[in-house]
Amino acid sequence: MKYILSIDQGTTSTRALLYNKEGKLVFKSQQEVACLYPYDGWVEQDALDIFLSVVNVINDCLTKMNITYDEIDSMGITNQRETTVVFDKETGMPLYNAIVWQSRQTVEICESRKPYESMVHEKTGLIINPYFSASKIRFILDRIENGYERAKKGEILFGTIDTWLMYKLSNKKIFKTDYTNASRTMLFNINTLEYDKELLKLFNIPLKMLPKVQPSRSLFGTASFLSKKLKIYGVAGDQQAALFGQNCFESGDSKNTYGTGCFMLMNIGSKPILSSKGLITTIIATADGSVNYALEGSVFIGGASIQWLRDSLRMINSAAESEKYADRVKDSGGVYVVPAFVGLGAPYWDDACRGAVFGLNRGTTKEHFIQAVLNSIALQTKDVIKTIEEETKIKLTTLKVDGGATANDYLMQYQANILNSKIVLPECLETTSLGVAYLAGLGSGYFKDLEDIKKIHKISKEFYPNMDEECRKEIDKKRKKAIEATRVFK
Ligand code: ADP
Repeated sequence: MKYILSIDQGTTSTRALLYNKEGKLVFKSQQEVACLYPYDGWVEQDALDIFLSVVNVINDCLTKMNITYDEIDSMGITNQRETTVVFDKETGMPLYNAIVWQSRQTVEICESRKPYESMVHEKTGLIINPYFSASKIRFILDRIENGYERAKKGEILFGTIDTWLMYKLSNKKIFKTDYTNASRTMLFNINTLEYDKELLKLFNIPLKMLPKVQPSRSLFGTASFLSKKLKIYGVAGDQQAALFGQNCFESGDSKNTYGTGCFMLMNIGSKPILSSKGLITTIIATADGSVNYALEGSVFIGGASIQWLRDSLRMINSAAESEKYADRVKDSGGVYVVPAFVGLGAPYWDDACRGAVFGLNRGTTKEHFIQAVLNSIALQTKDVIKTIEEETKIKLTTLKVDGGATANDYLMQYQANILNSKIVLPECLETTSLGVAYLAGLGSGYFKDLEDIKKIHKISKEFYPNMDEECRKEIDKKRKKAIEATRVFK
């Protein structure tokens, strides 16, 4: 019996996971990765630490399972997106810390490019923001002696985490990335599927330092660390891997991940739709290597609002306790919370506003408040989904969900109610690593085809809406007013 090995390199931890032919998770090894915060708003990581954590979890997985490399069919890699590593081609050593996607240190570089917003949007599907890799590469090149010249000669290379890991795991032989990761660099034209000269010029980045791009499901090469050899057949950014792991193969299929923030993606098929309402257009992974797209909207504060209840307000002892309190009251007693702690994301993109609470009265209890915070996660998701529906003209009937906060049945039922859609939870909640295991397995022939995967994909829970239309309308009305009022208070 052979396994697929998935590497899931996330912002807070690195995981190695073994999946079998039934798509069942057989073993998982995990290691935390430290974040560095050199200045306010800056988030960096040690790129070597990231690589070593991958080697550690792979070894741990094999040792604890007592299996050899021969029992692994192939390998897939999924990663935190946009995080940027610049390294020396010859020595394979990083030349600066990895700049993490959240980091705000390149705000000025982005501000100065704002006049080119529409050109950048048309070519990349993205909005000009420090989030994406281009400004981070520029920032690092400015801090290396003769950085630009050396990069132009090909002595200095750039990679998102997938590229960095493959370069290290292959002893400098693989210098590649996949379409999903490339589409987050802000240098890749998602229409022509090439790095774009105008974008490279805008950020003053030489083409020579960029990795070769290929489909998520294709042979990237052989990892040859510790004299063992493993073929890498699947690579995808984390949200795109989760979309694939959720079996969102058709246009209109959607998933929302409820983690610290919420990430919503809808598969929109083979034509990239550009959003005028603050959504991002991005390339997704496919079984046959063809290029398909998704619209993506993110909510900054999702499960983080529950952490806030626990750690700052100290209203609950654990995230799970929020459900117990919410279940004790029939509704939120007219309380609405807008957790705009760092401003509002899609579709508002309002950096300046901050969180607010509405509708408090003398009878408001802790239970009402906690329920209102949980509701706010679902209401923000609804705002994103409504925007996606407006842009695509596709009505969402089923939402596939994953992430830590989906453990909360109250939240999932409320989400079904206010969306008036079915909510579906998969059996394996590790959809990110599962997605890339599917891709690697399809590439190597371990899985025959998509039908094979659909057969083994199992659902664990479903939630059906049970709220009357009038109630839903009333909530929508109040919610709209709460958002408007929040945006006034600056
Ligand atoms: P990430 O990948 O962003 O670290 P996870 O998918 O691990 O996030 O989910 C963690 C988040 O889920 C935390 O913000 C936590 O507050 C939230 N969470 C976990 N369990 C529950 C629960 N039972 N109810 C509500 N939120 C929860």
